Amino acid sequence: MAQKPKLAMYWASSCGGCEIALVNLNEKLLDVDAHFDFMFCPCLLDTKISDIEALPDGSLAITLFNGAIRTSENEEMAHLLRRKSKLLIAFGSCSSKGGIPALSNLSSKSDHFGTIYLDNVSLDNPQGILPQTRTTAPEGELELPEFYERVRHLAEIVEVDYFIPGCPPEPHQIWNVVEALVQGAQLPPKGSTLGGGKSTVCNECAHRKENKTIKKFYRTYEIVPDRERCLLEQGIVCMGIATRDGCGALCPQVNMPCTGCYGPPEGVLDQGAKMLSALGSVLDIGSSKDLSDQQISGRIDAAIEGLPDFAGTCYKYSLAASLLGGKSR
Ligand code: SF4
Repeated sequence: MAQKPKLAMYWASSCGGCEIALVNLNEKLLDVDAHFDFMFCPCLLDTKISDIEALPDGSLAITLFNGAIRTSENEEMAHLLRRKSKLLIAFGSCSSKGGIPALSNLSSKSDHFGTIYLDNVSLDNPQGILPQTRTTAPEGELELPEFYERVRHLAEIVEVDYFIPGCPPEPHQIWNVVEALVQGAQLPPKGSTLGGGKSTVCNECAHRKENKTIKKFYRTYEIVPDRERCLLEQGIVCMGIATRDGCGALCPQVNMPCTGCYGPPEGVLDQGAKMLSALGSVLDIGSSKDLSDQQISGRIDAAIEGLPDFAGTCYKYSLAASLLGGKSR
C-alpha cells in the first residue's frame, strides 16, 4: 500500500485552541485520516521528538505550527520542524503574529518572574527561587528551556511557507486549506495567507453603516447596542475595519465587537496603526474652525484615554509582528 503523506501539528506557546479547532472538523477528520498519516501532535499522539529527529529532512508533507516562540524549546522545535517539513504553515494568530502571548512583550522577563514567583500571595517561596535552565537533582542534572525576554512569531525564527490566521482558525477555513492540499490545487505564492479573505471583516458584516462619528468609546458592558447598527459607530471599539475577513464576522453577528484575531487585512503592515487611523476618521472632536490646535489635541487625548486598553485592544493578536514589535519599554 502506498504510504500516505505525513501530517504534523505542533503547539509552541499557545492555549490549545488551535488543536480544538482541528478536532472541530468533526467527521471531516476521517477525510484527513484517509489522506494523511497524522504522525506528530504532542497533545493527541505519543510520537516522540526523537521519532521526528530520525526522519529524513523534508519527509513531513505539512506541519501546522501553532503558538508563539516564548522559550528555547519553542525555537528548537521551529528549526527541527522546518527542516523536516516540505510545507511549514504558521497556524493561528500566535504563530502568525505573536497572538495574545506577545502582549507580554510590554513587560520584561524580570517583571514576569517577579509577579509569578516572588510577588504572589498564593506562593510560598521564602528563598526567592526563580526558574533556572539547569538544576541539580539526586537523579542528575536537569535542563529546562530558557524563557526568552521577548515573544516572537514563527517567521522571525524560520522561513514560513503559508499563514492560516485566526484565534483559532475557523474549521471551515482549515478544511478549505486541507482540501486544496489534498486535491493538489495550485497554491498561491509562498508567504501568502490561506484560509482568509483579502478584505476586512466589515465587508462581510451585516450591520448597517451610517458613517456616523462618535464622541465617546464604550466598553461592552456599558451600553446595550442597537443590534442592526455598526458597533463602532455606536462607540464600541470593533476591530473589523482593521481585520482580515474570512471568519464570517462571527463576533459582530452576535453583537460582540471583532477583536482582530484574523490579523491585518492584505497589504496592511501594522494592524494597530490601521485601527488608530480608522478611529481618527470617526472621532467627533468638533470643528477645527472653532478650536485651537491645543484644544483639538486635548480632545483627541481625552477620546483616546477613553480606550480601555490600547495595546490589548488594537494589538491583541499582532504585537510581535507590529512595527513596534512590543518594544515600547
Ligand atoms: Fe461590523 Fe464591526 Fe465593521 Fe461595524 S466595525 S461594520 S460592527 S465589523
